[in-house]
Amino acid sequence: MIDLRSDTVSKPTDAMRAAMASAEVGDDVFSDDPTVNGLETYTADLLGKEAAMFVSSGTQSNLCALMAHCQRGDEYIVGDHAHTYWYEAGGAAVLGSIQPQPVRMLESGMVDLDHVRQVIKPDDHHFARSRLLCAENTHDGKVITTAELAKGAAVAAEFGLSYHLDGARLWNAAVALDVTPAAVAESFDSVSVCLSKGLGAPIGSVLVGPAAFINEARKWRKMLGGAMRQVGLLAAAGRFALENNIGRLADDHKNAAQLAAGLSEIDGVVVTAHNTNMVFVDYGKAIAESPLKGESAFADAMADHGVTIRMTGGGTSRLVTHIGISAVDVDTVVASTRSALSS
Ligand SMILES: *Cc1c(COP(=O)(O)O)cnc(C)c1O
Repeated sequence: MIDLRSDTVSKPTDAMRAAMASAEVGDDVFSDDPTVNGLETYTADLLGKEAAMFVSSGTQSNLCALMAHCQRGDEYIVGDHAHTYWYEAGGAAVLGSIQPQPVRMLESGMVDLDHVRQVIKPDDHHFARSRLLCAENTHDGKVITTAELAKGAAVAAEFGLSYHLDGARLWNAAVALDVTPAAVAESFDSVSVCLSKGLGAPIGSVLVGPAAFINEARKWRKMLGGAMRQVGLLAAAGRFALENNIGRLADDHKNAAQLAAGLSEIDGVVVTAHNTNMVFVDYGKAIAESPLKGESAFADAMADHGVTIRMTGGGTSRLVTHIGISAVDVDTVVASTRSALSS
């Protein structure tokens, strides 16, 4: 199957599995796992920060960061469609007693800094204490430039806030901007990155920041049940991903562009956006003009052609390229779309 639902569906390659099989391990709760320690140092260096912590998921990484930056009764300012607000089950509020203050997001994917200024609260006992500003890069695959990210740092500094990046797909941003990962991370106090998306590791994220902050975050990771033992097996996959799979994200971006171009040539199919490795498609008109009865019939017809997609309502879908999708697969997807629509 050609699976375009997300880059999270990517599977470890044989070479990655070999790296996992031969990893040296120890009890990471005792800081004894050399492969985890190596991954943490490597990632901190790659992102230009002092220290790092390996965690099970991006959600846990962001939550540890929020809980290390904020105390009970503090608030974090976050984009109203950002992952850390919308897709993390309200963890900061539920487990951290941290109030989210959502703000508008610009077309670029950046938080609207004018809105941020309006919601930052004065030091007054009526208000939650504004403590942290969060950004996300990439957002919906959109790349935010280092200059725009730096403007957020200036606002954070002006009001004494910390500045956190949800950089689940920071690697895609760095490759698209042709800058180092450290350049994308530069204006932030802390950054969370995923190893399990386009990089192809089966699991894992890393949180980076100052040593004292990472120490604090380790306590929260323990409390959240995220301290793991011989987890070098997984860290080895992450290390392999960082050393081998960042540069090839350019292929994913090329494949997404090729997919967008191919699909937009089909009558009634509208590509509404394509950003880095994501293509947003509205098949509504094409489905309505086809013999198919609705979007799930279309998804089923695609599956019959060996292509897995996830419809998101109203005939729309987000298609994501990744390490498991080749340029030949992209041509197959376009051809399958034509024939599914006429089936
Ligand atoms: C995937 C993702 C996360 C967290 O991912 P997990 O599925 O918890 O590993 C965080 N932020 C963004 C933008 C993401 O895409």
